[in-house]
Amino acid sequence: MKQIKSEIIDPTISAPLPRPISAKECECGCGHSFSPRRRDNIYLNKQHADFAYNHGKRKSKNKQRLIDDKALRKNDNLLDKHFKSEKGQGEIDRFYDILKADGFQSGYYIGIYSQNEKEYYISYRYMYRIYKSNGVLIINIKKR
Ligand SMILES: [Zn+2]
Repeated sequence: MKQIKSEIIDPTISAPLPRPISAKECECGCGHSFSPRRRDNIYLNKQHADFAYNHGKRKSKNKQRLIDDKALRKNDNLLDKHFKSEKGQGEIDRFYDILKADGFQSGYYIGIYSQNEKEYYISYRYMYRIYKSNGVLIINIKKR
């Protein structure tokens, strides 16, 4: 005689699975979801973590460059505006405070040039020097 052994597996009595940490999106920006092994895992794996690190660094580097470029362009445009307001002059003098009020930032220049023992700061199209006359700051602007 054959004995039939039947096993009934009742899913309700099986031990509950440990509650998984819910899936989350990898923070590198790849769009993949993953199930972190630990709650502080924020990247799919090391490659994604490295990618995020390099990318973030590159991004902030570019951001600073854009700010610098903008300031340099603005300076150059302000020098251009004032220089062209007096036609036929080889160089012009302006109250420095006027350019400063317009947003000129003297800390932004692309080089320094010496001429006749005077030091000029260089913008894209102009060179300038700032000096004091009767206690007032004057900016002298020349074409390069
Ligand atoms: Zn990723």
